[in-house]
Amino acid sequence: MSMSENKNEKNMRPKQDIPSILERITRPKKAVVTAGMPYANGPVHLGHLAGAHVPADIYARWMKLLIGGENVLFVCGTDDHGSTSEVAAKKLGKTTQEFIEEVHSKQSQTMSKYSIGLDTYTGTSRSENFEEHKNICQDFLRKMHANNMLERKTSKQWFDPELSMFLPDRYVQGQCPNENCSNTSAYSDDCDVCGLQYDPSELINPKSTVSNATPILKDTDHWYLNMWKVTDQLIEWLSTKEKTWRKSILQEVFGTVYPSVVFSNKSEALYKEIKESLPTHKSRYAPGKQVLVQLNSLKDLEVAMKILSENGIECTLNNAWSKRSITRDVSWGIPVPTDIEPGMEGKTLYVWPESLIAPISFSKVALKKKGLSQDKYKEFWCDPEAKVFQFLGTDNVFFYVLMQGSMWFGSQADPLRQPIAGELQQTDIFSNFHLQINGEKMSKSKGNFYTGDQLVDEMGYTPDQLRYFLSTLSLSEKASNFDFEVFKNKNQFLAGPLNAAFEKPISACHSKFDSVVKKGKLIGKTEAETLKVVQSYTRFMDRAEYPKALGAVENYARIVNGLFNQYKPHDDRFPEEERVDALYSSFYILKNLVIMLSPFVPETMEKLRVTLNLSESVYSLDSLKTDFPENHKIGQQVAYFPNSEN
Ligand SMILES: [Zn+2]
Repeated sequence: MSMSENKNEKNMRPKQDIPSILERITRPKKAVVTAGMPYANGPVHLGHLAGAHVPADIYARWMKLLIGGENVLFVCGTDDHGSTSEVAAKKLGKTTQEFIEEVHSKQSQTMSKYSIGLDTYTGTSRSENFEEHKNICQDFLRKMHANNMLERKTSKQWFDPELSMFLPDRYVQGQCPNENCSNTSAYSDDCDVCGLQYDPSELINPKSTVSNATPILKDTDHWYLNMWKVTDQLIEWLSTKEKTWRKSILQEVFGTVYPSVVFSNKSEALYKEIKESLPTHKSRYAPGKQVLVQLNSLKDLEVAMKILSENGIECTLNNAWSKRSITRDVSWGIPVPTDIEPGMEGKTLYVWPESLIAPISFSKVALKKKGLSQDKYKEFWCDPEAKVFQFLGTDNVFFYVLMQGSMWFGSQADPLRQPIAGELQQTDIFSNFHLQINGEKMSKSKGNFYTGDQLVDEMGYTPDQLRYFLSTLSLSEKASNFDFEVFKNKNQFLAGPLNAAFEKPISACHSKFDSVVKKGKLIGKTEAETLKVVQSYTRFMDRAEYPKALGAVENYARIVNGLFNQYKPHDDRFPEEERVDALYSSFYILKNLVIMLSPFVPETMEKLRVTLNLSESVYSLDSLKTDFPENHKIGQQVAYFPNSEN
């Protein structure tokens, strides 16, 4: 490299020291972190923890390092309403509330077991939450109704005359209408034996699975959320996420939200002739021998449809995604307010939109628990400088992005623009694929179904071992495997090289330096590697790319072992000055490890912090800028990662 190039590069590059790196990180004023809500019908299993609660907890802890605990809310709770819990309770002969209470308390214990540091784990029907939650939900309905975001439609639904209730599809079974199929427990509109889909009226000999009565089909009205109306606003918002959101999310939401039409491939030749006259678009083949044309906005769509039809191409609007019913004939739920429209009495809000609203009321519960005004929720949800981060499974992306996005727009003073200060701000989404166990989908019938409790209580793993391992899986990119052999190897790494990096300096300090870390210089690769790790760690954490963040931190921890091999702080026969420097450098690295690993393995890092005799204020990203305290007395060495046979 020539001198001039070198100089040039130096001028171009942003300043490379830790304060400058930390300065460049975007810090929201406030942050809410949420994790997908478990249904109140069973225990928290390993899949929940891997895909939602552990990654969300790590992110919440990362946010706390970044902007301080007082500016972060981490909330979750059970999804109590809807037919699932109601029917499960009925079958057990319990009241719904009783049943939910049992499930909730077990789930809550599992969360604590895994150090999921929630500010509140509540639930949509719980007394500390229900009133506020109901008000927010009803307010949403009123605002969306006023904005013409709700369309009323009539459909037929099974009704149980004995229980006097409408039955959700899954609670009606009968004989499959396919005469070549002998399935007598086919569902209301599909048979999972022959795969046939049919109109509910075709089901032969239907039975209510709740009461065993013969149900009847009755007309019922529901509101459908009109997401189509805010298509352009969704596109405008999502376009700002192209560089930060996970690829799988972008693929799904853009594949859905760009307005499109389909026409028969018989018109393909004709289409090719007039293609140039259409607004900017993309085209591809679609199922059913069709061609799909995707436009960039509703206006472009209108223009395109006009041109296509003028040229004799008969096309169909591809808008089925954008109309979803958001009310149900279920008694166990948030009642539709009676002051909006006559004829909707007795209906409740569908649990999906309800669960999207829930984190807002959960935030209010959390604020109250902290002794703060519930009104402060606005600082977290309605300020353009605040952020809401949501962790969920990939199969819920549609709801959390398109349905929620539309509901947020739909509740604004004007739905046809981006939110302004004081209105709900759109959120950021992190999705994860499914966890597999030893190469197979987790299922009770295969015997590879693990609840969170089982791994800790019966199999004896520590929560930190599990948290660490789950964080090394690439669930953000693909379905990943919980392989017990790989887990074992990771635990050996924690008990081996990583523990050694903690124990060597601690033990040398106690045996050779009277338990005092003398002031020294950062030697060897310490300074350069610290700069490197701070850079990669902060970049990866921001995007919740945990396997990469941990990889960088693991490499960094290895420097301690290198310093010990080279300068032998534990051996009096080597030069004193270098031994002091090497020990000082090692403790400087340990201090940084406490900070960087604390989101992943909080219990273990707390033990290490106590040994290092550092105050709790070390849990801050800005503590990466600080030196290790001068002539500092350290505490006792304890067991960090367990040395287990597991
Ligand atoms: Zn069938």
